[in-house]
Amino acid sequence: MDYIVLDLEWNQSPTGRPPKNAPVFEIVEIGAVRLNDRGEQVDTFHSYVYPKIFKTMHYMTREVTGIDNKLLRREGVKFPLVMEDFFKFCGDDYCFCTWGDMDLTHLQINCDYYKIRGKFPFPLLFLDVQKLYSLQYEDGKDRTNLKNAVEELNIPKIEGSHFHSAFTDAKYTAEVLKRIDLEQFGKYVSVDYHKVPADKEHEIYLNFGTYTKYISREFKNKEDAMEDRIVVSCTCYACGRALRKKIRWFSLNGKQFYSLCQCPEHGYLKGKIRFKKGPGGGFFAVKTQKLVGEDVADAIRLKQKQTQKKQSARAKEK
Ligand SMILES: [Zn+2]
Repeated sequence: MDYIVLDLEWNQSPTGRPPKNAPVFEIVEIGAVRLNDRGEQVDTFHSYVYPKIFKTMHYMTREVTGIDNKLLRREGVKFPLVMEDFFKFCGDDYCFCTWGDMDLTHLQINCDYYKIRGKFPFPLLFLDVQKLYSLQYEDGKDRTNLKNAVEELNIPKIEGSHFHSAFTDAKYTAEVLKRIDLEQFGKYVSVDYHKVPADKEHEIYLNFGTYTKYISREFKNKEDAMEDRIVVSCTCYACGRALRKKIRWFSLNGKQFYSLCQCPEHGYLKGKIRFKKGPGGGFFAVKTQKLVGEDVADAIRLKQKQTQKKQSARAKEK
């Protein structure tokens, strides 16, 4: 399998208001590097996009990317043609890699606008090189910018280039990726959330060895989701046992929910559900479950007590 390291630049409405039904961000440049499974660069892709939605550049975009209207009109290719070439370049057996988790979402939003359909696999899994960099070189939670990572890793400067050019950034991201130990960190794939599971059958289950992730279909509201048997279930991913909860799902802010389960063999599992807005105006759940120690279990117990206290205080006020 090859790695398609992708980077995009996009423009936005200079007036702050995109036309109706148009993407907020119009892609103006696509750059990509293809690495084989030994991490060797085997091909590159670069194209500017002829602007259709925004006829002028937002001054910020122009300043940051160095791309102006003249350049796009001179060298830009219409988006559907760019994508046709790009998918040819990708081939059939590849994994997308991007710096951060935004690019594939915006690429799909632009594809939707042009009714370019059925080109992306579902679920769309990718390597977020920024996240992998953090896992290997930082604390796993920080997200540094590409320039910092390039400097930290002493990656040689690409002559005559600047950051925030899609082609340059794709090349630098590929250089960072080459320095990631994929044996160890390559399993931590990310899921693009642009397309939400259409039904129960397409819900997503991922097992990372140290934690699991589940992505539900869209529900009308969070309350409906929290009544779904699968959404609220707890399973030990080490042995597959269905677990009873020590602490049922609770939430302080209505955004994140926590729970605690215990496997007789493997110990405590911390459950976390985050809700995200779906395309239908409802919500879908992203649930993670992780084996934790006594200290984290205690922290969840404490959090639950604080939540109960606050909720009863609120109830008294009413
Ligand atoms: Zn177990």
